[in-house]
Amino acid sequence: MKSLIKPIVVAAAFLLTANPVISKASNAITVDIFEGETATVNSYIFSNGESLVVMDVQRSTAEAKKLTKVIKNKQLPLTHILITHGHPDHYTGMSWLSKQFPKAKIVVANEAIKKDILGFSTWMESVGWLEAEPLLKPKSSKNPNGFDYVNNIHALNSDTLMMNGGGKLKLNAHYSPAEAEHLTTVYVDDLNALFTSDFGYHNVHLWMGQGVSKAHIANWRAQLNRFKSKYSESKPKVYPGHGKPADITLFDTLITYIDDFNHITSTAISKDEAKRKMKALYPDYKEADFLLKYSVDNHMN
Ligand SMILES: [Zn+2]
Repeated sequence: MKSLIKPIVVAAAFLLTANPVISKASNAITVDIFEGETATVNSYIFSNGESLVVMDVQRSTAEAKKLTKVIKNKQLPLTHILITHGHPDHYTGMSWLSKQFPKAKIVVANEAIKKDILGFSTWMESVGWLEAEPLLKPKSSKNPNGFDYVNNIHALNSDTLMMNGGGKLKLNAHYSPAEAEHLTTVYVDDLNALFTSDFGYHNVHLWMGQGVSKAHIANWRAQLNRFKSKYSESKPKVYPGHGKPADITLFDTLITYIDDFNHITSTAISKDEAKRKMKALYPDYKEADFLLKYSVDNHMN
């Protein structure tokens, strides 16, 4: 009888200690991808089973409405809308989303990104582009019901975004200007996953248009090499800003693409020839008529 009790006690003790492990495991962060149609841009929805954070929110209110449905279907509170950088394909949906989720805080890694967003929107309004996206018009004396960028976007000024209920997103916004003046990446331990934002494009042409100088492209290439060495051991899954998830070989693919782009745009005799040659090298890449077109236009006379 004595010998029987012992295993039962051991088993009970195991169950007791195992319980916290089980509840911790339920807090592991998971991610869902919302693939936008316009510009093939991704939104990422992080969940720990108790709350949600969405990273980047699409290029149009129409797509943000679809994203809203996906988030609402999860039936968990959305606490943060994280915008990685000041390009409208990543933030246009924020005005709609914040109306749908009034408790969710719009956050950026630092003040510089907040400035980039307001700067881009102010420019878009000045050239009339926001007539199609009136929700994004900045609040002003002539537009008192506009979006209040200053008070509605919060700079985290931290490298960590803690999720309500456990788990953290590790932010890094300490990069030289590349695809954008300031970019944020996110690493999640639970997933061994790196969310590169627009350092990464997968089977989608890279944006090297307005605002992306030769020096920015060189910084971008150098950063891809840094990612390569930093992550050569841990081999995280790579979630790009545009296109499907990949592995770390994506960094090599991107470096080769940049080298091809630099070579072709400096040797082709016309913009049309450069576009033709890039399309011939990358026949399956998306957004040739948008991202590639304006990138070639920006780097050739
Ligand atoms: Zn983008």
